[in-house]
Amino acid sequence: RQSIESPLYNLILKASEFYQQSLRTHSTKKMAVDYFKQRGLTGVIARDFALGFAPPGWDNLIKHFEADDSQQKQLIDAGLVVESADTGKRYDRFRERVMFPIRDVKGRVIAFGGRVLGDDKPKYLNSPETPVFHKSEVLYGLYEVRKNNRHLDEILVLEGYMDVIALAQFGITNGVATLGTATSEEHIKKLFRLVNNILFCFDGDAAGRKAAWRALESALPHLQDGRKVRFLFLPDGDDPDSLVRKEGVDAFKARMSQQAQSLTDYFFNHLTEEAKPTSLEGKAHLASIVTPLLTKMPSGGLKALMYQKLEELTGLDQQHLLAIKPVASHVS
Ligand code: ATP
Ligand code: MN
Ligand code: MN
Ligand code: MN
Repeated sequence: RQSIESPLYNLILKASEFYQQSLRTHSTKKMAVDYFKQRGLTGVIARDFALGFAPPGWDNLIKHFEADDSQQKQLIDAGLVVESADTGKRYDRFRERVMFPIRDVKGRVIAFGGRVLGDDKPKYLNSPETPVFHKSEVLYGLYEVRKNNRHLDEILVLEGYMDVIALAQFGITNGVATLGTATSEEHIKKLFRLVNNILFCFDGDAAGRKAAWRALESALPHLQDGRKVRFLFLPDGDDPDSLVRKEGVDAFKARMSQQAQSLTDYFFNHLTEEAKPTSLEGKAHLASIVTPLLTKMPSGGLKALMYQKLEELTGLDQQHLLAIKPVASHVS
């Protein structure tokens, strides 16, 4: 971990300025501007999120920096330039992509996500792990959330860059995104230092539902009484970006307030689908998959109430429940 100010910060900031400048002035800027327009982004929101453009070509960034050998090595350390293992040739990592700078909570640019303008693969390319970028700890948009909300009560956790930006454009300015990774306990801890309430709103697809359950598992150890976690499930095929544009912001806000499920509802709904407590076998199965999860929770009223709920569902009293040996869970 870097404790002294790393020279990489300055380099990455300069790269970000280059990408932003390219969106305004590069001879090929039209393709990027058209792309953002076609996705409904305004110039204002593009500026707020410092969006940019890495033009087509292998060495725009290297040329821009007029980098000598030692500076090229720093660009490699920053994840912006790649050195071919075979030929030793160096080239820009991000080419012909719209660029989403990722800032840390202090507002320093530490990495980028770059999206292709069409349907090529990979759709998104992120900076690799570097001395200043630890992907599993970072939440995209958190800096902007704190900057734009003096009184913050709840944070929305979304999947993608475009989800954060689209909601912000419609005035929902408390959204952050994980960067294509599962929500980790590090993420949860970071969020609960800022707010007592978290609302997860992932894509309405299998990956999104899986991500929601992973998020729940990461949240369980941090569910002190007074904290609240909710889940909003979207219609199949939609994500927050597509949905807010389709149905408008009022309808989306209504969903958030009316359709979000509490963590405990989601927890028991999900698990009683997996193990239906309609037979003795089902009840025993349910108890065997719920108890190891409850064990992860901090003591408190919520944990006690969840045990009580499990007692109601299974007819097993707490003494029996606590005696259940954890088994490998197959729940996903
Ligand atoms: P868009 O709306 O631009 O098509 P999206 O954000 O809806 O993209 P998803 O496929 O839902 O894209 O992925 C959600 C997030 O996961 C992305 O925003 C990105 O951070 C990450 N991601 C997606 N594909 C990749 C990839 N190939 N490599 C790394 N991260 C990815
Ligand atoms: Mn998705
Ligand atoms: Mn999307
Ligand atoms: Mn999506």
